[in-house]
Amino acid sequence: MSRVYNFSAGPAVMPEEVLREAADEMLDYKGTGMSVMEMSHRSKAFENIINEAEQDLRDLMQIPDNYKVLFMQGGAHLQFAAIPMNLMKNRVADYIITGQWAKKALKEAQIYGQANAIASSEDKTFSYIPDCSDLPISPDADYVYICENNTIYGTKFHTLPDTKGKTLVSDISSCFLSEPVDVSKYGLIYGGVQKNVGPAGMAIVIIREDLITEDVLPYTPTYMKYKIHADANSLYNTPNCYCIYMCGKVFKWLKKQGGLEVMKARNEEKAKVLYDFLDSSKLFKGTVRKEDRSIMNVPFVTGDKDLDAKFIKEATEAGFVNLKGHRTVGGMRASIYNAMPIEGVKALVEFMKKFEEEN
Ligand code: PLP
Repeated sequence: MSRVYNFSAGPAVMPEEVLREAADEMLDYKGTGMSVMEMSHRSKAFENIINEAEQDLRDLMQIPDNYKVLFMQGGAHLQFAAIPMNLMKNRVADYIITGQWAKKALKEAQIYGQANAIASSEDKTFSYIPDCSDLPISPDADYVYICENNTIYGTKFHTLPDTKGKTLVSDISSCFLSEPVDVSKYGLIYGGVQKNVGPAGMAIVIIREDLITEDVLPYTPTYMKYKIHADANSLYNTPNCYCIYMCGKVFKWLKKQGGLEVMKARNEEKAKVLYDFLDSSKLFKGTVRKEDRSIMNVPFVTGDKDLDAKFIKEATEAGFVNLKGHRTVGGMRASIYNAMPIEGVKALVEFMKKFEEEN
C-alpha cells in the first residue's frame, strides 16, 4: 500500500487513524455483526453514534446550549437556499462577496428575496478580504452573510465583519474545526463536511434556537425547514448515517489531538512552512494579500502557465497530488487541512525548492 500526499481542496485527506479504525469496524461494528452502512438509523447503536457525534462536536466547538446542531444532506449548496428560505423574514439579506461560493450563495438568495452584495473583492480576483468595518448594511436585513474561508482564492476573514447588530451567517466549509470559534458571535454557521471533517454528502448547521421557526418562505420544501430537523434530532428522515459515523470518528480524533487550540497551532505551523518558502522563492509566489491569507488553502503561481503545468505534472509523479488550482483561477493550490501532516508540507516545500533549482 502506498498513500500519497493529497492536497485536494475537497473531498480531502482524512486522518489515517480514522480510516484504519473504520476499516476494522467495516464488517462488524462493535459486536452488532453488521457495518454501520447496513444499520437502521432508528437502532440503538446508531442513536449512540449520532448522539456522541453531536456531543463531541459541542465539546470541541464549545457550542452554547441555545444552539442546535443539524446534520443535513445536500452539502453546502442546499444551504445556499435553505438559509434564505428559513431566515429571510423581511426578504432582505446582505452578502459580502469574497469568491465564487459567496457569489453562488448570493445568486441563490436572489431567487427568494432582495439579496444585496454590500462589499466585494472581485476587482482583484478575490485576492483580499474587503474592509468590513463600516458596511452599508440594509436597515431591514434579516442577516449578513459571509464565506469565512475562501477555498478557491485562499483568503480568510481573520476579523469578523461589523454587522451592526444584524445576524451573522457564515459558511465555514473549508475552515471547519481548524481553530476555535466563538459560536455566540453567529446566528448560523454551517459547512459541507468534505474538507476538514468527513466524507462528502452532508452539511452541519449550527443555528441559534430563536432563528428556528415555522415562519419560513412559502413553498419551502419540508426537508429544507430547520425546525423539522431540530425537532427530530436530525433523524426526520434517513440521514447520511455513514457520513455521520465518520464525522464522529474525526471529532474523537480531534479531541485526542488536544482540541481546536492544538489544531490551530499545528495548522499555523504548517501554513508558515509553506508561506515562508513562497515569500523567499524567486519562482513561486503566493497570490493573496498577506494579512488575509488562509491557513487551510494556499494558492500560488509561477507566473508562467506552462511552468505551472510542468510543476503539477512532476509533483503528481512524485506523490504530491491534487495541487492544480481551481479551474477558474489556474496556477496551484495546496489545501493543508487538519489531516495533512506537517511532514507532507515540508516534503512539498523540499520538492518545490528542487523544482526551482532545476527550472
Ligand atoms: N462553500 C465553500 C467554502 C466551499 O469550499 C465549497 C466547496 O465545495 C462549497 C461551499 C460547496 O460545497 P458543496 O459541494 O458541499 O455544496
